[in-house]
Amino acid sequence: MGLTFQHTTLGQRVLFGSGKAAEHLAGEVDRLSARNVMVIASARERPEAERVTAGISTALPYDDVAPHVPIDKAEKARKAATDNGIDLLVCVGGGSTIGMAKAIAMTTGLPIIAVPTTYAGSEATNVWGLTEASRKITGVDDQVLPVTVVYDAELTLSLPAELSIASGLNALAHCIDSMWAPRADPINQALAGEGIRALNGGLPAIRTNSDDLRGRELALYGAYLSAVAFASAGSGMHHKICHVLGGRWNLPHAQTHATVLPYVLAFNAPAAGDAARRIAAAFGADTSTAGLNALRETLDAPQALKDYGFVEGNITEAVQLILPVIPESNPRPVTEDNLTVLLTAAYAGTAPDADWTESQP
Ligand code: NAD
Repeated sequence: MGLTFQHTTLGQRVLFGSGKAAEHLAGEVDRLSARNVMVIASARERPEAERVTAGISTALPYDDVAPHVPIDKAEKARKAATDNGIDLLVCVGGGSTIGMAKAIAMTTGLPIIAVPTTYAGSEATNVWGLTEASRKITGVDDQVLPVTVVYDAELTLSLPAELSIASGLNALAHCIDSMWAPRADPINQALAGEGIRALNGGLPAIRTNSDDLRGRELALYGAYLSAVAFASAGSGMHHKICHVLGGRWNLPHAQTHATVLPYVLAFNAPAAGDAARRIAAAFGADTSTAGLNALRETLDAPQALKDYGFVEGNITEAVQLILPVIPESNPRPVTEDNLTVLLTAAYAGTAPDADWTESQP
C-alpha cells in the first residue's frame, strides 16, 4: 500500500528556555502590541506567575480557577475580561489554568499566551473542556489554541515529584494513544515517538532528583511533542476511557491517565503491529509493553484506580459509558467482556503482564 494520509499542523509559536520565561513573555506581549493583559494563575501558581510577569504590566490578575473549568467560573471570568477591556490572556499554570484561558478565548476571541507549569499539554491543543452539572464536555475550536507557548523548565521545579511523575505519564499517554488514534499518521506518530524518547529520559531523572533541570527540560519538551501529536491524531481508546472516568467520577486527571495507560497498551499491543513497533523502538526496548513497564517500575508509577476514588461497583456503568465512544480505529475490538476485565484489573492494580494480555476475552 502506498503512503497516503492527510495531516494538519496547528500554527503556534514556541519559545523554550530555562530561566527565560519573563524575557520571552515580555517580548511576545510587545510583539502582539497588547495593552490590557489578564494574568490567569491559581493561588498555588501565583509565585510562578509573579516571576514570569515581572517584566510586563498586568491589568487584571485572576485566580478563580478550578479543575475541569466549571461553567459558572468560566462565565464569571469572561465577564471580568470584557468588563476590563482585556486584549491578551496570559495563563501560568497547569491544565486547569490553561483551560480557564481557553474558556475565555472561546467566546471572546482573545489571544492566549500559555506558560505551562505541568506536563498536561493543553497549551498545544485546540481542544477546550467545560464542566456543567458534573458533566464534562469538550470541543475543538482553533480560537482556543494559544498563539504562543512559553516553556521554562525552572517553573516546573516546584511541582512535587509524585505529581511530576503522574503528569509526565499523562504526557506519555498522549504519545502512546496517538499511535492508533483516529487520525494517526506518519507525522504525528514520528512526533509521538520522539515524545516517548524524551519522557523516557526525563522522568527517571526527575524521580532520582526532582531538582534535575535537564530532566525537567526533557520532560517538558516531551510533553509538548505529546500534545502536538495528540491534537493532530485525536483521542484513542486510552483517552476515551480516562475522559469517562474523570468526568463521571471526578478522578484526578494525571493519576487516572498514569494508572490506566499500561492496561490499554497491554490490551492493544498484540494487535497494534507497526504502532507497537514504533513504541518499542522509542523506548529502546524489545517490546512496547516491556518498555513501558520498565519505565513505570523505575518511576514507582501510580498502580490502581482504587487508590484514586474509583470503586469496583462503578465498573458496570463505566463499561456502558465507554463502549460507545471507543474509536473504530482501535487496533483490537473492544467488547463488554474484555473492557470489564481491563477496568477490573486497572481498578485493582493487577499487573498487566504477558499472561494478563493472553487471557483477554
Ligand atoms: P492541574 O492544572 O489541575 O494542576 C494540578 C495541581 O498542580 C494544581 O493544584 C496546581 O495548582 C498545581 N500546580 C501546577 N503547577 C505547579 C507547579 N509548578 N508547582 C506546584 N504545583 C503546581 O492539573 P493538570 O494535570 O496540569 O491539568 C489537568 C486538566 O487539564 C484537566 O482538566 C484536563 O482535562 C485538562 N487538559 C486539557 C487538555 C486539552 O487539550 N484541552 C490537555 C490536557 C489536559
